[in-house]
Amino acid sequence: MKKWLLLGFALYSAHAGAFPRANPVPGGIAEIPLAPQSASAPIVQYAGRRVTVAANNGQWVALVGIPFDAQAGTYSVQVRNGKPIEFSVQDKQYRTQRITLSDNNMVEPDEESSARIVRELAVQKQLKTRFSAGEADLNFIRPAPGADTGRFGMRRIFNGQPRNPHSGMDIAAAAGTPVKSTASGRVLHTGDFFFSGNVVYVDHGAGVISMYAHLSKISVKVGDVVQQGDILGEVGSTGRATGPHLHWSVYLNGEAVDPTLFL
Ligand SMILES: [Zn+2]
Repeated sequence: MKKWLLLGFALYSAHAGAFPRANPVPGGIAEIPLAPQSASAPIVQYAGRRVTVAANNGQWVALVGIPFDAQAGTYSVQVRNGKPIEFSVQDKQYRTQRITLSDNNMVEPDEESSARIVRELAVQKQLKTRFSAGEADLNFIRPAPGADTGRFGMRRIFNGQPRNPHSGMDIAAAAGTPVKSTASGRVLHTGDFFFSGNVVYVDHGAGVISMYAHLSKISVKVGDVVQQGDILGEVGSTGRATGPHLHWSVYLNGEAVDPTLFL
C-alpha cells in the first residue's frame, strides 16, 4: 500500500513539474483543455498554424503562444473534427529598457546589412514555425547559470530608437560558460545571424522550439539528438550585444513566449 502511494506521488511530481504555467497575455501562453488523454491527441490550429498539444493530469491541453502584438480580447483555436474553442487574452504592459550600442550599424543597418536581415528573417520564420511529429519535451532547465539581465518582453530603445520587443530572456554569464540544452530534442539549425550572432535552434517536438544566441562557440551540428543539459556551445557576445550573455528564446506556434513560464 505504502509503496503504491509513493510511486503514485513520484509519478505525479515528475509530471506536475514539467508543464508550463499559463499566462494569457501578449508573449504568454494560453492553456486550453481539450479532451481526456484516453482519446488520441487532438489536432489544433491557431491563426493557421499548428499548436502544441500536450498531456497534463490526464487531459490533452493546447499550449497557444500568444503574439506580442495581440490586443486584449477573445480569440479561438480550431480543433480538427471539432468546434472552435475560445480563449481570452489579457493586456500586459512591459517595461522599457534603454540600451547604448557603440556600433550604430546594429541600430541603423546600412543597405547591405538590411538585405541580410531580410534574408535571415525568412530563415528564422521557418525555424520558429517548425512542427515535428511526436510528443513535446516540456521538462525545461535554465540553459546557463547567471543573473537575469534582460527580461522577456521589454520594449527596447537602442541609441534612442525604438526597436522590437525583447523576444527572449538574457542571462549574464562570462564568455566561455557552457550553454546547455533546456530539454531533449534535435538540433534544428546552427549559424550566424546579424542580430543574434552565433545561434543554435533546438526542436523539442510538437512545435516547441528553443533558441540560444550570441554564442562564442557552437558545439553541435544540425540533426544532432541532444538530451537535457547537453552542451550546445559557449556564451559569447556575437551579433547585437553589449557584452557576453546568453539570449534564450522559446517559441510556440512560431511566437516567442516568456521562457520563465517553462521553469
Ligand atoms: Zn536578448
